[in-house]
Amino acid sequence: MDNTMIPREEQTDDHLAFMDEAVLMGEEALAAREIPVGCVLVHDGKIVARGRNRTNEGRNATLHAEFDALRHLLPDRSHLTTPQLTRPFTPQADDVRTASGEGGKRKVWHTPLKGVVLYVTVEPCLMCASAMRQVGIEKVFYGCANDRFGGTGGVQSIHSDPRLLYAPPYPAVGGYRREEAIMLLRRFYISENTTAPKPKKKSNRVLKTEIAEVTPSPSPSPASFASTPVGTPKLAPAVPLV
Ligand SMILES: [Zn+2]
Repeated sequence: MDNTMIPREEQTDDHLAFMDEAVLMGEEALAAREIPVGCVLVHDGKIVARGRNRTNEGRNATLHAEFDALRHLLPDRSHLTTPQLTRPFTPQADDVRTASGEGGKRKVWHTPLKGVVLYVTVEPCLMCASAMRQVGIEKVFYGCANDRFGGTGGVQSIHSDPRLLYAPPYPAVGGYRREEAIMLLRRFYISENTTAPKPKKKSNRVLKTEIAEVTPSPSPSPASFASTPVGTPKLAPAVPLV
């Protein structure tokens, strides 16, 4: 794991305020019985889009919070009567960044989300971390790490991998409202997942409230969010985590 976690004393109020809004979106997801992950996209100090996990509601496994927020920034395609693959973004002149690629060759990156910052309660998964890079996100702040599916250090570092030349790297830092993000997930996993093919009885589970420090302890895995009683094998989540 290679997450960059910022200590609480170094977190500034403006970032925490935006993360509070992301936590509210996570609460909304929890109320809707979705895996509780929420996010906001911020540009010029203003929230330009909000998102939360809607994979069950939309019957769409890609509708993670980040994609839910991202679609608010896409061109309105509601006039289309049939699904069509259209170019999602039309890069403008100032959406283009250049950099030196291999052998000194100049690369041109289209970065329509240049200047946009993502605040999300859980570290973006591999899919979302890649998507954020492809649209040229400026920076990502997250709550807790995702050591099963994390794409910004939890499993792989898609945000900064220099071998990926399709888009510029972006910084990603975690630890912002980490405890709140973890408690959201625990509250979800302690309840029965009625959307699973075979809902598991979890009436013997107790909601843990103590949260280990980031260092030296490893970040919690989705399985540990579920507060599995001691002595029983850890079960994989009934639904995929972000
Ligand atoms: Zn995701």
